Formats: sequence, C-alpha cells, structure tokens
Amino acid sequence: MTNPPNDGAAAPTLERWDRDHFWHSFTQMQEYTPLVIERAKGVWLQTIDGRRLLDAASSIWCNVHGHNHPAINAAVAEQLGLVAHCTSLGMGCDTTIRLAKRLAELAPGCLNRVLFSSDGSSAVEVALKAAFQYWRQRAEPQTQRTKFLAFGQAYHGDTIGAASLGGIDRFHAVFAPLLFEAVRSPLPDAHNLPPGVAAGEAADHYLSQVAGLMAEHAGEIAAVVIEPLVQCAAGMVMHPPGFLFGLRRLCDEHDVLLIADEVAVGFGKTGAMFACEQEAVTPDFLCLGKGLTGGYLPMAATITSDEIYEAFLGPAASDRQLYHGHTFCGNPLAAAALASIDLFESDALLDSLPEKFARIAEHFDRLLDHRAVTSVRQRGMIAAAELAPDAEGRSIGRQVASLALQRGIWLRPQPDRVYVMPPLSISLEEIDHLMGVIGDAIDAATAVPSV
Ligand code: PLP
Repeated sequence: MTNPPNDGAAAPTLERWDRDHFWHSFTQMQEYTPLVIERAKGVWLQTIDGRRLLDAASSIWCNVHGHNHPAINAAVAEQLGLVAHCTSLGMGCDTTIRLAKRLAELAPGCLNRVLFSSDGSSAVEVALKAAFQYWRQRAEPQTQRTKFLAFGQAYHGDTIGAASLGGIDRFHAVFAPLLFEAVRSPLPDAHNLPPGVAAGEAADHYLSQVAGLMAEHAGEIAAVVIEPLVQCAAGMVMHPPGFLFGLRRLCDEHDVLLIADEVAVGFGKTGAMFACEQEAVTPDFLCLGKGLTGGYLPMAATITSDEIYEAFLGPAASDRQLYHGHTFCGNPLAAAALASIDLFESDALLDSLPEKFARIAEHFDRLLDHRAVTSVRQRGMIAAAELAPDAEGRSIGRQVASLALQRGIWLRPQPDRVYVMPPLSISLEEIDHLMGVIGDAIDAATAVPSV
C-alpha cells in the first residue's frame, strides 16, 4: 500500500464507538470483537492499527478487481465532479443510461430492459413484483399465477418478499408469520445426494421434484427463483451440471417465468460473466448486485425482456407501470459499474481466470490431506471445504476463521466449513499464500481444543 499505516492512536476510540453505537448486521454483538478497516488496496484490507488482511470473501462476494482500483476510483471521482445524485424517476443521467445499454448488451439472450435498484434484495423484489404484475397485465392474463417456487436453503435477501423465498431456517424462521409462503423444492445439492441417487442422475432427480411441484401447482406459479449454479449463503452449495438447463426447459413447458438471482454469482465468479451462460440459459429476469460496480457501491439491477416490459406499457392513466422504485435507483455513480465492465474487457479478465481456478483446485485437493477436512468442492472462484467436528463434537469452522485472522486472512466465519471467494484480481502468489494460511489454521484448530 502506498499510504503509511495509521499510527494506531485512533484505534481504541473507534473500537469503543463501534461497540457503543454500531449494530452490525448478521453479527452477534454480544461476542463481537471490533475489527476496524481503515483502507484497502488490491485483495488486501488494512486495519486502523496497521494489520494487513487478505479479503478472502471479497467483502461478502462484492469486490471484483481489487479494492481501491485506480480506474474505478477515477471514474467515480470524475462523476462526483458532474453530479452525485439525481433521481431516475422520470429522468435519466449519462452514466446510468450508458450502463443500461451496456448491461442489455452483456446480458444473455433477449434481456434488454434494465431496472436499477440499490441492493440485491431490491433487485429480487423488483423481479418478484414485475413477474406478478406481468401475469395480470399481459395480453392473455393469468391472474391465478401468484406463487413463487424457490429452493431449499435459498437466500435471496432480507426484505420481506426476498426473505419469503428464503429457505435458511437460521435466517428466516423467526419471520415466518410475516412472510408469504413459497412453493419449496428441495436443495439441488450435487455433493450430498439422497441415498440411491448416482451423480450422473442428480440433475434429473432434482428436476423431477420441481416437475412434480409444477404439476401440483399447475397454472398457479408465476416464477421460479434460483441462484444459478451455486447457492452461496446456503454454504456454497453447488448444483448438479445440467440442473439449470433442465429448469429452464421445465419453466418453458409449464409456462412459468425464470428469475435468475445472480447477485452473488454474477460478474465472473463462476468463470463466465453470468452463471446462466455456463448452461446457455436465458432467464426471464436476471438480478444483479454486489459485483455490478466492481463491489464499490450499493447498486443493483433487474434485467428483463422486451416482451415482459411491454406488458407494462399504456397511457399514464392506465396505471400499468411498475410501481416500484428506490430513491437512489439509477444513481449516477453507476460510473463505477461502467469502469468495472471496462476492466473486464481491457484486462481480458475472464481469460485470466482458468489458471487461477486450477490453482485454487490444487490447493483444495491438498486440503483433503488434513484429517479435519471431509470434502471439498469448487466452482470457479468459489471453493469450500467441509470440516469435521472436533473430538467433543464441536464445530471448528469459527476457530479456523479466527486463527486465519490472526495470520492475516479474513474469512467469513462458518461453523462447519471454510470457503473462499476472493476478488477475481487475486494473483497466483496471493492464492498460494491464502491457501497456505488456511491449511495452517486448520492444523492449528485441530491441534488445540476448540472453544
Ligand atoms: N441474492 C443473493 C443470491 C445473495 O447472495 C444476496 C446477498 O448475499 C442477496 C440476494 C441480497 O443482496 P443485498 O445484501 O445486496 O440486499
């Protein structure tokens, strides 16, 4: 990093203010130990007291080109000199218009209409509401299509609609009385198959369950919502090859819309710009967030086809438009997203990934030599190792994360596994370092009693 480290004088004060005032999301505050980031560069975060931490989870699956990237910084700075915010309700601005065009060009198939929002949950809410309204307003309405099919352990965000699709009890069960009921198909997990199902039959097995539900709810399902290829919040659960392709086919057969939530897996994480491309699938709605701006800003997008969009057209008095929007949707700082997409092209980023994926695969295979590691799996930049409990039956994942933190790697703590999803810009040497530390942390966690 070019700037000298902070001398640490401010750290105790900030840590106290952090404890006293900042309620961190998805964090048990009773056990929270402040970790205050002051700056970042590339894959490295730097704490206020000068510690360097490799950001192994891309600041929760967001960062793409590394932190503090000069090209994205410059694009945002230039835009700040023009306009930082203007509404997109009834007007547009240079950057967001360009971004809409760019996304329409990049998105698979006929996806051509872009509705911006502020975060991934909102991108999913938009898709849900637009799908619902589409069935009511299209030329031949099907107003009984009011249900959504989602998968076991799905995670689509925390707003009430997105949470209704969620299937992770730890996150969602407490809110059950507030949520609408989704039609739930079992988690299509390629690595934990039900007894008697061979790997080669996995996709068909899970698809037959979806087909059964579609038949049971014939004419009632508005859309299927899926995290394509990898359900990240479920614990990096990977779908069997062919599942997404088969799902698209089933949706077509049953006249059901397909919503692909690529908030986590979009923008290169699986090796293609969008995960849907890996199985030549065009969804009816593509939801993007996190990496859209290279991981810089809260900005999200829902992209759909002309056909769906046209169902919302009519005179102003017809009230056919989509009554959904957020104050900052279409914010001009979309300049960050344009710069990020430029970097994919100028750096031929996708072409550089297979070598990195192979290096990650080698390291994860070697993790199997650790007696605590029971299985490993990988899809592109996303890789996970399952960890056996210790001799007393206690999960060791949190301890592994804490030992890695002491050794300069930030992992998102998980009870029973360790996963990585670093920025795409990570170097081979940084991958070696990251994985060496994870191996050491697993050894250390199994050498001492866990707490
Ligand atoms: N969808 C998926 C697949 C996600 O992983 C997430 C967040 O992790 C979301 C939606 C929600 O995005 P946000 O936290 O930006 O609202």
